[in-house]
This record gives sequence, structure tokens and C-alpha cells, in this order.
Amino acid sequence: MPHTGHCFCGQVRYAINAEPVAARMCWCRDCQYIASGSATVNVLFPGDAVKFEGVITTLVKIADSGNTVERGFCPTCGSQMYSRTIQPADMPIRIRAGTLDNPELKAPEAIIWSESAPSWAVLDPKLPHHPRGPK
Ligand SMILES: [Zn+2]
Ligand SMILES: [Zn+2]
Repeated sequence: MPHTGHCFCGQVRYAINAEPVAARMCWCRDCQYIASGSATVNVLFPGDAVKFEGVITTLVKIADSGNTVERGFCPTCGSQMYSRTIQPADMPIRIRAGTLDNPELKAPEAIIWSESAPSWAVLDPKLPHHPRGPK
């Protein structure tokens, strides 16, 4: 059975025909802007396994990692849906965990870009912390 999800208003929907390959929280500065000051929580899937429906606005920027990253969001409600790395290619797509119909699907297993987190951030000491991106 595919995993499914949608944006806050329901205009964007998706189905994923694969199991998650990883899950993690990202505290990079870019994520803090789009996640209202917190980390993003991302569940990773093979890029070709996700099929979206609806209108998605995309923004392409060079990330703190130096990679070229595309972020997709709903133009009606503003929900962030995913990010994917355009360059280098063939990296997993990061689905924003809050958009999954089942937010329990996969708990974060690591914290990345912990060096960019503000001093008040609460970082689970039981998880591995990567100061920057994962290896
Ligand atoms: Zn929406
Ligand atoms: Zn980030």
C-alpha cells in the first residue's frame, strides 16, 4: 500500500510507492526560515517513488552544503512539501514529515546542521548530531 500525504489545504497530494530510506531533522539556516524557526523534519524516499498531484511552486537555491536544492510548496496554503537535490543528482527526495498522512511513519534518526541551531534549540541527545550535512 502506498504512503500518502497532502498539504494543509489539500490542493497538493502525493502517493509514495516505496518505504522510507531514512528520516532526520535539519537545523540549517534555510530550514529555519521555512519551518518557522525550528528544524525541518524530513522522511527520505527514492526520488522516483513519489507522485505528486496539484499545483506546486518550486524555489531553487544553493544550500549551505553548496548543493543546488529545489524546494516545493503549495502556492495556496504555503505548506512546504519536499526538497530535493538537483546537483549532485540521484539523492533521495526529502518529504516534509508533517505532510504525511501518517506522521509516525519513521521517526528522525539523526540531526543534521546542528551547528546552525540557535542556543535555545532542544536537540535530542539520544540521536547522532552532525554539525553540518551528513557524509
Ligand atoms: Zn495547500
Ligand atoms: Zn536544512
